[in-house]
Amino acid sequence: MPRRLGARQLAQIESRLRTFFTDLAEDLEELEADTSMERGVDAEDEGDTAADEALLGVSIAIMNRERDTLHAVVEALAKLERGNYGLCEDCDTPIPAERLMALPWAPRCVPCMQEYERDFA
Ligand SMILES: [Zn+2]
Repeated sequence: MPRRLGARQLAQIESRLRTFFTDLAEDLEELEADTSMERGVDAEDEGDTAADEALLGVSIAIMNRERDTLHAVVEALAKLERGNYGLCEDCDTPIPAERLMALPWAPRCVPCMQEYERDFA
């Protein structure tokens, strides 16, 4: 049987999620400012365009990944408020405490996550 989370662990997870949320939101703001700047400046400089485009692509990929994580963090906080935190989104079984301590915004248990990644990756 997987261990369930105690009140102290839940409080710990909640504060970690809130910290993650703040950090990610700040990061995203910076990335968004950077990418919109890059887009504007080098329009005339043909030689650098390809390199800039590549860089922009990387920034956008990071931004997208951070947005996904931010979304998962928000979901996890909402679940904490609703009192159903720690249940797998797909099969409703409790996600093992070890997994949640390692990845507090994990929305699914390991088997469901593997299946999800197989379907959407
Ligand atoms: Zn599951």
